[in-house]
Amino acid sequence: MKPKALLILSLLMMMTPSILYWVGPLRRPAMTDGDRIELRTCPTCAGSGQSQNKQCPQCRGKKEVQFMVPGPHRPTYVEGHVYAPDGVTVVPEAKLQFHSEAGDWKHTTDERGRFGADLPPGKYPMEVDSPQGKLSTVIEVLPQTTPTPIGLDATFPKRVDTYILQK
Ligand SMILES: [Zn+2]
Repeated sequence: MKPKALLILSLLMMMTPSILYWVGPLRRPAMTDGDRIELRTCPTCAGSGQSQNKQCPQCRGKKEVQFMVPGPHRPTYVEGHVYAPDGVTVVPEAKLQFHSEAGDWKHTTDERGRFGADLPPGKYPMEVDSPQGKLSTVIEVLPQTTPTPIGLDATFPKRVDTYILQK
């Protein structure tokens, strides 16, 4: 193969992920069994297609946008912030143990004392252990009920929990 052809080929390969993204397949939102996508009236322009005498920026004049209608299994991304008993000192490398019907699993907090997991609706008993303190609690994730417009971030909705360890 000629060097020029090779160059073009490698450029094309480099660009493949961005092309796929803009064409669509990688832009699909994260979905689970039972989730649905529905066209609904655009909340920004209330279906007029206009916002402040300009084309509505959310629906781009189409009057409708895609909404995610959550099913019973749609996870929530739970971000936990773990603090020492004083309530202000973050606790890195705290050992976390979770229990669920699907099995047990372990996590460790990062350098900012945080952990995160995509959790489907349910109750997750959790134990935290660290030199600064311990905690035994239950993380409860309720099913989502509110349809939300689909943004470009194709992720699950996020919630932040604070956990203060006990001595
Ligand atoms: Zn609109």
